[in-house]
Amino acid sequence: MAAKHDTLIPSDLEVAEMLRRRGMTYLSALPKALPGDRVLVHNRVRPTRSLGSRGFRAWLQNDTDNLDQCDCGFVPELGTHYRVRLRTDE
Ligand SMILES: [Zn+2]
Repeated sequence: MAAKHDTLIPSDLEVAEMLRRRGMTYLSALPKALPGDRVLVHNRVRPTRSLGSRGFRAWLQNDTDNLDQCDCGFVPELGTHYRVRLRTDE
């Protein structure tokens, strides 16, 4: 019943659990508006309107540690958003 972990790519469940532990809210759909105290963040997969499509993920979080402000044009109606900062191991 346990999933095999023979890949470095985390499963959706693992990602959701990591985000929850870090006080993040993993989005399965885009909100109409952002909560005032949180920022919208996406990973470094090219954004698409379909969250989860081709590995694209977005979430809300409380701080901007390790994030870069992003100008990719994803959901301009929601204002400023961020992406995960490039890491040197990629
Ligand atoms: Zn972006």
